[in-house]
Amino acid sequence: MSSDPIGLPIEGFKAAFPFHLAVDRGLRVVQMGEALGRTCGEIGLGDELGAHFTLRRPDIAFEFEAMRGNVRFLFILESRARRMTLRGQMVYVEEKDALLFLCSPWVTTAEELRELGLGLNDFALHDPVGDLLMVIQSQNAALADSRKMSAKLTSQRAALRESEQRLQAVLDHSPAVIYIKDSESRYVLINKRYEQLFNVRRDAVAGKTDYDLFPQDVAFRFRTNDAKVLRGGAPMEVEEVAPQADGVHTFLSVKFPLLDVAGQAYAVCGISTDITARKRAEEALVSAKETAESANRAKSQFLANMSHELRTPLNAIIGFSQLLEENTFGPLNPRQTKYVHNILYSGRHLLQLINDILDLSKVESGRMELEAAPFNVTTALRNLQAIVSTLAKNKNIAVTLNVDAALPLISADERKFKQIMYNLLSNAIKFTPDGGAVTAAAAIVMEERDGAPRQVLEVCVSDTGIGILPADQKRIFQEFEQVDSSYARKQEGAGLGLALVRKFVELHGGRVWVESEGVEGKGSIFKFTIPLQAPENTDDSKMRRKKRETPLVLIADDDPSLVVAAADLLGKAGFEVLQSYAGRQCVELARQHEPDLVVLDLDMPDLPGQEIIEKLRSNPRTRKTPILIFTGTDPKESEKRLLRRYVQGILAKPGLNELVPEVRRIMEAAK
Ligand code: ADP
Repeated sequence: MSSDPIGLPIEGFKAAFPFHLAVDRGLRVVQMGEALGRTCGEIGLGDELGAHFTLRRPDIAFEFEAMRGNVRFLFILESRARRMTLRGQMVYVEEKDALLFLCSPWVTTAEELRELGLGLNDFALHDPVGDLLMVIQSQNAALADSRKMSAKLTSQRAALRESEQRLQAVLDHSPAVIYIKDSESRYVLINKRYEQLFNVRRDAVAGKTDYDLFPQDVAFRFRTNDAKVLRGGAPMEVEEVAPQADGVHTFLSVKFPLLDVAGQAYAVCGISTDITARKRAEEALVSAKETAESANRAKSQFLANMSHELRTPLNAIIGFSQLLEENTFGPLNPRQTKYVHNILYSGRHLLQLINDILDLSKVESGRMELEAAPFNVTTALRNLQAIVSTLAKNKNIAVTLNVDAALPLISADERKFKQIMYNLLSNAIKFTPDGGAVTAAAAIVMEERDGAPRQVLEVCVSDTGIGILPADQKRIFQEFEQVDSSYARKQEGAGLGLALVRKFVELHGGRVWVESEGVEGKGSIFKFTIPLQAPENTDDSKMRRKKRETPLVLIADDDPSLVVAAADLLGKAGFEVLQSYAGRQCVELARQHEPDLVVLDLDMPDLPGQEIIEKLRSNPRTRKTPILIFTGTDPKESEKRLLRRYVQGILAKPGLNELVPEVRRIMEAAK
């Protein structure tokens, strides 16, 4: 049976639908039922439907296509000419390309019926054919809808499958281990990397928990982290370990909750990256660092021990050759004098080298301390000018000082300041050919450090020497770095001086650099700064006044065998010992090393004992150093009284067995 009403073999169609109405594509009336024609005499065939009716329902445009597209709805047309609405079903008649409106007037009272001049025959309200048509129409519409829906569903399902495949492909090609577990910690999804790494198949894992796959403790840790994510509803990053065939691997896991529309976490997703290689490299690095540090400590310890071992005999070599050079024990012939001079020179050079190496290793290991105290820079520079002037005179070089008159006292380590200056000035003289000039200048200037201005003492040492090419200007501040020029090669040196200068300047929180064009004759300018205000981040321990771990005793006696014996005794008792064989040497060593006690023989060949004591007491560095007189000639009681005003103890020779207790007593009393 066709669903097209026009094609239906229905007898008396017009009688069955006395109110029907048909319009063509132009909405012109092409046919109407007998009752409609009678009731609405104003409507003629060919009239536009819109001229006689308005469309009350459905709420669509009053156009052919719009009406054709909505035939499944109930249509209500309202007459423009009278109080009448037509209610019914719109049907599209395909072969006529027309719309057929099967309807009845909507009347609710007999009054209205009368008004419209209608009888009961004019209605097809319960017409079984009309009902059938309605059923067929709605069935058709429902069928079309369901067909559309199922097509949509199929295409949605395909799209879903495609997107799932895409997602799985992405997951499977990821080098990370990816998994999803539901709120009961059961696996929902794993990727290929997971399968490979833990040697499982995804269909075998689905529905299982970590307790089915891993040792208890490992599963417990996984579960704890998952639970945290589910409870907290927020992502977390955590390091996790899991056993593998080749040992335990470390993973960096990013875990995050999957939320439903209500924002509730229903599963946890994890992305874990194997960071075992990085972890092992880090551990290797830490252990390499520890090994390097311990090697460095061993090196520093070795250097400290060696320097001590080397310095003791070297001091003896220097001390004895000094005595010989000064003809203390009788005149030497010219050749002997020359050789002794050579021994002394080489000895001092070696001692300097050892001291430099020791100083460097101390700075490197952080054991170098600054003895900061206010001092007069101008005076210090004048002293240095005097010291280097002998070197300069030999080469006919003028050393000039150019110091700001109003220089304030500077709080810094004076000894290190002098060492810095000595190294720079002696280099300037060394690398300046005969007849040149060297100038030292100092002034207070402002410099910028880390974006903030600060006041610094700036010291410049300039020369008219061979200069340093820009390419070499950085490296010469490294240990054992020297410029390989023909002039420089002829000069002595180990390449440690500037390295020490840099370390000492930096310990003070300052900086050092050189300016030079590298042109012979134009020379170089070495500059360094020392901040007036100690930097806040300077390690406190470096700035405090130095405290020796083992007390240092200086023995001065012209009898070498006694010095050696006393040094041995004191060394065994835990003291560090400096040896001296002459009065001036004793004064100089005491000034340099500031011993904790001086054991002094009053009968020295070069200086009377009284004078040695005076010199020690007049120097600020040794003014308070305790002195123990160790004398062979028993002084008179009156002399002893006088002596006691300046010294802390008097011991008669040989009395070596009393030496250590007496030294201890004096040191204890001096604390
Ligand atoms: P040393 O002088 O013992 O070789 P330094 O560390 O003091 O070691 O100096 C390193 C190198 O820097 C020197 O060997 C020299 O080549 C260069 N240098 C230092 N001072 C000057 C200077 N005033 N003029 C030219 N070159 C210099």
